Formats: sequence, C-alpha cells, structure tokens
Amino acid sequence: MAVEKMLKFVTVDKDMPEKRAAEARTADFHEIYADYVKAKAAEQAGRCSQCGVPYCQTHCPLHNNIPDWLRLTAQGRLEEAYHLSQATNTFPEICGRICPQDRLCEGNCVIEQSGHGTVTIGQVEKYITDTAWEKGWVKAIAPSQERAESVGIIGAGPGGLAAADMLRRAGVQVTIYDRYDRAGGLMTYGIPGFKLEKDVVMRRNDQLEAGGVSFVLNCNVGEDITFAEIREKHDFVVLATGVYKSRELQGPGSGATGIVRAIDYLTASNRVGFGDSVPEYETGELNAEGKKVVVVGGGDTAMDCVRTAVRQGATSVKCLYRRDRANMPGSQREVANAEEEGVEFVWLAAPKGFSGDPVSGVMVQKMRLGQPDATGRQSPEVIEGADYVEEADLVIKALGFEPEELPTLWNTPELEVTRWGTVKADFRSHETNLPGVYAVGDIQRGASLVVWAIRDGREAAEDILSKLAVSAGVAAE
Ligand SMILES: Cc1cc2nc3c(=O)[nH]c(=O)nc-3n(C[C@H](O)[C@H](O)[C@H](O)COP(=O)(O)OP(=O)(O)OC[C@H]3O[C@@H](n4cnc5c(N)ncnc54)[C@H](O)[C@@H]3O)c2cc1C
Ligand code: SF4
Repeated sequence: MAVEKMLKFVTVDKDMPEKRAAEARTADFHEIYADYVKAKAAEQAGRCSQCGVPYCQTHCPLHNNIPDWLRLTAQGRLEEAYHLSQATNTFPEICGRICPQDRLCEGNCVIEQSGHGTVTIGQVEKYITDTAWEKGWVKAIAPSQERAESVGIIGAGPGGLAAADMLRRAGVQVTIYDRYDRAGGLMTYGIPGFKLEKDVVMRRNDQLEAGGVSFVLNCNVGEDITFAEIREKHDFVVLATGVYKSRELQGPGSGATGIVRAIDYLTASNRVGFGDSVPEYETGELNAEGKKVVVVGGGDTAMDCVRTAVRQGATSVKCLYRRDRANMPGSQREVANAEEEGVEFVWLAAPKGFSGDPVSGVMVQKMRLGQPDATGRQSPEVIEGADYVEEADLVIKALGFEPEELPTLWNTPELEVTRWGTVKADFRSHETNLPGVYAVGDIQRGASLVVWAIRDGREAAEDILSKLAVSAGVAAE
C-alpha cells in the first residue's frame, strides 16, 4: 500500500511534462509545458523518498507539506492531496508554475542531492490544483459566520490576495483597492503568459470575488482616495503595493526614443494578450516586431523581456549582462529556455551610452570579474579599450525595481520606511509602526517572489485574526 507506491527514484527517472518545441512555443504566448497525465503525475510523485527530514518542506517559504501530498498523489487520492496542498498555500497552481524551484523546494530535495534528479515538486503541485479546478473541488469561500470588522487592502497582487483569502475565510469584511483595472498585480501584468497563463490568475480573482471580497479597481490610493480615508473606513489596513520604480540607465543618449522600461513593455504585452487596445503597442513604441532588440539586465524580468521580444517577432534579441552566467540572478532554467528560443546572451557586457535618437546602437563596454566585494560577490570591472557598438532599435531596461516613496505620495510622513525605501514592518506579524497597519510582499521585502508575498499576506492575516480573537474574547468577558 502506501509505501509501495513511493521510493521509486531508483527505478523511475525524473521526467518533466513535455516541453513544446522552441519553434512552436515562440509562435504564441501559451505556457511551454504540457500537463502531466494522471498516471505520469502519480509515477513522478512516487519517486519521493519520504525522507525523515524533508528539506524540500523546510526550503519552501510556505512550508508546504510536500511529502504527504506527493504520497497522496502517488496513491491516486487527489482530492485529499488538493485539500492538504491548499491548506498551506493560497495559490498552489501558480507557485507550481512560477516558483524558482531549483532554488527552493526542488534544489533541496534529498534525492536531487544524492544525484538521482529531484522529484518534480512544482509540476505535481500544479497538477493537483489544476485537477481540483477541473473537478470542481475549488469552491468560493463561504465563511460559517460573518464578522463586523473590516480590513482594507491596498494592492491586489499575491500578497494582498493571500491576506484577503484568509481574512474572508474567517468572515471578516475585506475590500481590496488597486490602481489597475484587473486584480493580480504582477501575476496579471508583469509575468508573461508563457510562464503563467492569465486565465489561471483570473479564475482566482473570480473565486475571491464570489467569496465576498470587494474589489475597488482603477483606484489609485493617494490620488483617487487618500490613505487617511482608507484608515478611517477600516479596522485594519494592509499595504501590498509592490515595488514599481524602475532603476534607470545612465550615460549619454540614455533618454533617446526607443529606450523603454521593462515594466511598461511587459504590461503592454500582457494587455495585448487580454485583447485590450494598447496605443503604444500599435505605434511600435512598445512592440519588438521587426526590431533588433537589446535587453539590459540579468534577472528574471530581463528573461521575460527577451522571450516576449522573440514572440513579438524581433529580428534579433540580445541580452547584455555585466557579470557572467554563473553570477546572474535570473533562474538558469529560464536562461536555458531563452537560449532555446534564439536569444543571444552577451555576458560581461554593460552599456556605456547610446547612439542615435531614435536609438540605433548601444555602446558596450566589456567587463571582467574582479575581487569579491563585502558580500563575497565578484565585482565587475571595465576592460579598457574593448568597447564596441551593438546595433539596436529597441532597448529594454530591466535593471530591477525600487519602492515608490509611499510616505510622501500618501502624505503620511509618520509611516516608517527602511533606508531602501521599503515599508518597515515586523517580519513575523508584518505590523508597521502605525498601529493596525500592515505591510506585506515586495513593499516590505523589496523585489522578491510570489511565494514570499503569499506567505507574508497569510502571516499578516493571521496576526489580524489573532487580534480580533483577543478583542472578541475581551468583549465576551
Ligand atoms: C517581470 C517579472 C517577472 C517575475 N517573475 C516571477 C516568477 O517567475 N516567479 C516569482 O515567484 N516571482 C516573479 N516575479 C516577482 C513577483 O511577481 C513579485 O514578487 C510579486 O508579484 C510581489 O507581490 P506583491 O503582492 O507584493 O506586489 P505586486 O504583485 O506588485 O502587486 C501590487 C499591486 O498593488 C497595486 N498598487 C500599487 N500602488 C498602488 C496604489 N497607490 N494604489 C492602489 N494600488 C496600488 C498595483 O497596481 C499592483 O496590482 C516577477 C516580477 C516581475 C516584475
Ligand atoms: S510553493 Fe514553491 S517552493 Fe513551495 S513547494 Fe510549491 S513550488 Fe516548491
């Protein structure tokens, strides 16, 4: 029985779902992996060694009960697997698709460490909850009793949505304010469809709305409503606004037409995918079709830009990064996908300036890795006399994001921020220095991951609920 289905890693090899061929997948924006069929998911889940100390679980930010839901999947008990998986993760099918598993659960899988190839945890997690959606096991929230208290959440990204889900399950009244016209944050407008198809996100928004979460969209807090008004309306407030201030390129010519920000470029592409009218795409300003594209940066945003440009029909796509492959922050899996799709990586290369307006070339200086800095990371140094020009008629800046200055924008100088501009909050409870005001996700951590935003949102909700339980207890006395 149970154990017989497990420990198959010695006889069964790691097998990911089929990846579509590069030529086929670059013709559209659909996800690149096919789904597991039932037997394959059970077979792959059965490779888990059920080790006594599951490092995968320790290294999952949500401490998902991975060995147990793998065992249930191997036994064909999928509905139970779904309930177990959902208990610790608000969006398991989203994390299964886009977590950098090689750095988290799978990178720490014991059989991976022993050279057998990791259990494909992310793909099984995705399979379990996609199946749950198909079978109708995922239901709208129906709290057993309604509560009078209300929470206002600013930002409908994964952090805000995870908090909303937990609070609503406890019967709390929840309103989410977002400046975009669709909920989901970067899951909707940042991350491209080839990593995360949009109906996967939209069905979660619909589920929350059906469960009684109120969404106030197209509402920019600080412009359409003040932060003070939101505090006035609600018993608690959760800040989940993410980080959107793009780091800029310096150097002569950096203001030329044709040099654009990654977030603008990706948002436009995602909007086009929704069928929205996007004038900057129509005019070509945010469209790579027929262009020589250079993306500057080495993180996941840069990877998403290069792969989007390929799909839009760029004539060539190059990625400039000032360090080498081994020292880039982006996921190696995504680099491999990009290379398969025809992207050329120019390692140890940094822009010095730009020629033409509209831009026609990037002046590139070649770098080498020097001495390690205080963090132990080798700093790039310029190789004198090795500059050259890389032709380009669209340059995309993907150098990372910083927080907007919320205390100034919201006329709330008393809200404490760190020296990086992120909102200062306790890392367990997420409460800021303003009583009853919480901060979660990227606005607290700096640019991070969906899975961490989910964890933060859940933790803030737990703290709010514990305060409500205490106050209800006091009221009952
Ligand atoms: C291109 C790109 C690719 C990424 N790929 C991955 C990936 O593959 N895997 C992964 O785990 N992570 C990835 N990330 C990171 C991940 O998307 C973020 O860490 C995560 O979305 C942060 O969640 P959040 O809830 O804190 O903020 P966000 O998702 O940024 O949501 C914040 C929301 O707040 C709203 N908002 C902001 N200010 C206001 C205001 N004043 N008034 C009203 N609303 C406001 C915004 O409109 C937005 O909807 C990627 C990020 C980018 C940019
Ligand atoms: S949430 Fe992310 S880290 Fe945790 S098990 Fe799922 S894929 Fe792995």
